[in-house]
Amino acid sequence: DKFKSGLTKTRDNFTVKVNNLVARYRKIDEDFFEELEEILIQADVGFQTVMGLIDELKMEVKRKNIKEPSEVQSAISEKLVEIYTAGEKSPNRLNIQEGSLTVILFVGVNGVGKTTTIGKLAYMLKQQGKKVMMAAGDTFRAGAIEQLEVWGDRVGVEVIKHTEGSDPAAVMYDAIQAAKARKADVLLCDTAGRLQNKVNLMKELEKVKRVIGREIPGAPHEVLLVLDATTGQNAMVQAKTFKEATDVTGIVLTKLDGTAKGGIVLAIRNELQIPVKFVGLGEKMDDLQPFDAEKYVYGLFS
Ligand code: GDP
Repeated sequence: DKFKSGLTKTRDNFTVKVNNLVARYRKIDEDFFEELEEILIQADVGFQTVMGLIDELKMEVKRKNIKEPSEVQSAISEKLVEIYTAGEKSPNRLNIQEGSLTVILFVGVNGVGKTTTIGKLAYMLKQQGKKVMMAAGDTFRAGAIEQLEVWGDRVGVEVIKHTEGSDPAAVMYDAIQAAKARKADVLLCDTAGRLQNKVNLMKELEKVKRVIGREIPGAPHEVLLVLDATTGQNAMVQAKTFKEATDVTGIVLTKLDGTAKGGIVLAIRNELQIPVKFVGLGEKMDDLQPFDAEKYVYGLFS
């Protein structure tokens, strides 16, 4: 199971520690909760989320009259899933328009895995029988257009591009005309990952979105922010900045296979109220998975 093997590092760090904790304690007391708190913080679950979780666990222990530390384990899993899903049925579902063109915009800083994610998602959608196209909207970074083309070739998807340095909004306009003409189902749009200047970032994204929305009312249907899980709290800072710059509808958390601190998924969801729609669990074409909180949490503890 890809999901499970991709989480090996987090399982080795987090789950093993929780298991040890539960085995060491005879009764549930303040010390037990303090150690649990520390383990959760170290797994990057995030301070705010950990505090809420510990409070709820304490209440649960009282309410259910739990005496054995081993019984707390299932309560921890339940609470983690609860925090994540927050009452929503399928927060991870993509907003795909059946029978008309769906436009998905990708945002995020350089190096987080944006291009790779676009390639992987193109592959996944193609496997589902959809006609997919890509727009090379990162006209700023040297090599970005070529890199997207490599993925386009690999997956067998057409890439619409202009030359380096050209206006990304013009690329989007052309890509939409081409996607309409070819009767594509989904257009995946790359953007430049400049974060140094928030005002510029905001302006560029606004213009791109305006052009897309003018050609297709209601589009872009998704704005997916790509974040690198291995950067921990730095990813949280990026998420906050992008959330201020544009309406982010979902997150793709990459390189979850490369971190022992997979708790960042929960922190993002809980502190930013943005659903994690996909996770990256490797560098290959089929290493992108829709994020499923239950599978994730129970995968950690099984
Ligand atoms: P971009 O600058 O945001 O477009 O980033 P790239 O797509 O070029 O990715 C940067 C590096 O991260 C590349 O070496 C990718 O192979 C690698 N990468 C992307 N996603 C994942 C992932 O989920 N897991 C691992 N292990 N590596 C990844």
